[in-house]
Amino acid sequence: MTTALRTLWLQSGSCGGCSMSLLNAESPDLYATLEYAGIELLWHPSLSEASNGEFIDLLNRIMSGEQALDILCLEGSVMRGPNDTGRFHMLAGTGRPMMQWIADLSRKARYTIAIGSCAAFGGVTMAGGNPTEACGLQYEGNQPGGLLGEDWHSPEGLRVINVAGCPVHPGWVTDTLAQVAMGDMDETQLDEWNRPRSYTNHLVHHGCTRNEFYEFKASAEAPSDQGCMMEHMGCLGTQAHADCNRRPWNGEGSCIRGGYACINCTAPVFEEPGHPFTETPKIAGIPIGLPTDMPKAWFVALASLSKAATPKRLRENAVADHIVVPPGSDKKRGER
Ligand code: SF4
Ligand code: SF4
Repeated sequence: MTTALRTLWLQSGSCGGCSMSLLNAESPDLYATLEYAGIELLWHPSLSEASNGEFIDLLNRIMSGEQALDILCLEGSVMRGPNDTGRFHMLAGTGRPMMQWIADLSRKARYTIAIGSCAAFGGVTMAGGNPTEACGLQYEGNQPGGLLGEDWHSPEGLRVINVAGCPVHPGWVTDTLAQVAMGDMDETQLDEWNRPRSYTNHLVHHGCTRNEFYEFKASAEAPSDQGCMMEHMGCLGTQAHADCNRRPWNGEGSCIRGGYACINCTAPVFEEPGHPFTETPKIAGIPIGLPTDMPKAWFVALASLSKAATPKRLRENAVADHIVVPPGSDKKRGER
């Protein structure tokens, strides 16, 4: 019988949304997934019943080597302030800043996983002048470094695995944990931001229910319009690496299906795009952020062709909050 991978989950500069999301894992649920994957959750701030004293005892046993630690998960950014002392987040009962515990424990764990864009890159806790001096485990925004430094590697020789997203999809976390448990996680499984390719080899655009509108550049102009949100409403789905629309949340949802533009929350510095999230910045009427892999000239040529060919049904439905022009009927049986 193989030994379960002992996993510790810590939270620091976090809203708790990634844990909330994780609890929505389904088919199978979180506990079944962990059991199938051979993951033993040593402690989680929302799920564990251990007292503070028992928790601190656990940390001390990990540090002394008495308790093995295979996977360290951090949810939330590392708060280094004020003035790099880490005193904005002290770990209760230890007299030590959380950032010191995170650095020490990451040296013990065979794998360290950043859960969410805060832990990966700093995320929304870095926004607005970053008063808490927040950063990610191995990035500060889009700059390598963070708490552990660019050259840091875990005892298994991997850098921090960045399960980025705000919040993360529960499946991204459980898939990553299972992949680590199967011994199938190495650098080839991670993209240029050290995010698992299991979900970042896709774009949010893939599987979007508005794809027909996109093809004909039939665009939404106001919230609740049904059209594609790229041209006017700030949608970054053609550039955002994630499988949200191929693997909807809770089986059926995504930001776009809820009527909100994709804001590319799996990418570093998504939190401060420099313009309102639901506006598309343009130059000479052309969106600045064009689809990944597509040269600008091609996009402009295709867009003008598409617009010239937009069917009435899509043109009118795109700017309505319900179907005003239904698809044409098939010919009746027997008709020629
Ligand atoms: S990544 Fe988003 S959901 Fe997760 S802790 Fe940070 S702010 Fe909350
Ligand atoms: S650009 Fe956005 S709204 Fe339009 S089809 Fe792609 S993901 Fe959907």
